[in-house]
Amino acid sequence: MAKMNENFLNLKKSYLFIEIGKRVREYIAAHPDNKIIRMGIGDVTLPLVPAVVDAMKKASEEMGVKETFRGYEDSGLGYDFLREAIAAYYKKNGAEVAAEEVLISDGAKSDCGNIGDILSADNTVLITDPAYPVYVDANVMGGRKVLFANSDESNGFAAMPDKNVHADIIYLCSPNNPTGSAYTAAQLKEWIDYALANDAVIIYDSAYEAFIHDPEIPHSIFAIEGSRKCAIEICSLSKTAGFTGVRCGYTVIPKELMLKSSDGTEHSFRDLWIRREGSKFNGVAYPVQRAAEAVFTEEGQKQTKAVIEKYMENAKVMADTFDELGIKYTGGKNSPYIWFRCPFGMGSWEFFDKLLNEAEVVGTPGEGFGKNGDGWFRLTAFNTLENTKEAMARFRKLCGKQ
Ligand code: PLP
Repeated sequence: MAKMNENFLNLKKSYLFIEIGKRVREYIAAHPDNKIIRMGIGDVTLPLVPAVVDAMKKASEEMGVKETFRGYEDSGLGYDFLREAIAAYYKKNGAEVAAEEVLISDGAKSDCGNIGDILSADNTVLITDPAYPVYVDANVMGGRKVLFANSDESNGFAAMPDKNVHADIIYLCSPNNPTGSAYTAAQLKEWIDYALANDAVIIYDSAYEAFIHDPEIPHSIFAIEGSRKCAIEICSLSKTAGFTGVRCGYTVIPKELMLKSSDGTEHSFRDLWIRREGSKFNGVAYPVQRAAEAVFTEEGQKQTKAVIEKYMENAKVMADTFDELGIKYTGGKNSPYIWFRCPFGMGSWEFFDKLLNEAEVVGTPGEGFGKNGDGWFRLTAFNTLENTKEAMARFRKLCGKQ
């Protein structure tokens, strides 16, 4: 019999959303006529904007005409039109990256996990706790030693490096899922200095970059000095432009970033990733890449930003409610997530049940994202304003305020 990758035996059971689904189904079965408001899963709720739909339609038409039909894309790394549009977007955000350093993907989740293909199992990985689960799972599957950097109340749920701990690979996510916190330039510089001192690589997940509103928060790690020698940045159009069902993202790898082989020779990180993609990935669909290009046009930016503002209006309704109730929270200002301390001193599953049973609102228990999430809870702004207001009215009532 073929043998399994035994690292899979070390994975924690992935029960969070399964367990949430089970409890919600049971509640609905017992109360079929009641209106439940779902603010748990982080999927967008608004449709693609017209600029994106038009571009996708036009490109699909091209695929049906002999002269403009396209098969495999030559490089599999993305068409130049998209890579150049993204490099120009970076420039506007104060970061210089070359179009050749932008590598198009089918989304951030795959790249966050697959990047491990080019990294030795001998590396020690540092991951913030709580965190988006793929960072831990992919590294456990790869057999790497995982250490945690605590994101907790003491640092506003934005973990900072500990000089006494050595790591080779560091996963950072800003603005953060699940905590909604975002690193300032000074905080990122501290992480970059730590990475350079440890000869480490930062894998920077920037999936919520488009939600940044505070001018003090950088839109890219590449806006910070020293980053090109120690960081890659993984991005996604999922939340930026409603691409969760379309699938397109991009990873930026500076040309000067290196990895070492055991004989001490240095190898280009980007070349190794391109080699990996050449063997295992055949690129993103042409109509999807044209749709992605449309996101970066003037019209596309205007339209997608208007959608984000709608979500942020919901986030503000939530933040105002927590301010009014005096409940501690992070997020909601530069991200679509609000992360708050469970009222009544409850644990996060205990509060999940209370919120579901007494307010008919579904959220996500913080402990599903790591041990520091216990006693904390995540709600998302991906909903209608009407539902968000209704959910917050129910929340106030639950906390004894009308
Ligand atoms: N990174 C973070 C932090 C996320 O929250 C998500 C999705 O929820 C992703 C990556 C996945 O993005 P994609 O849909 O591009 O795979």
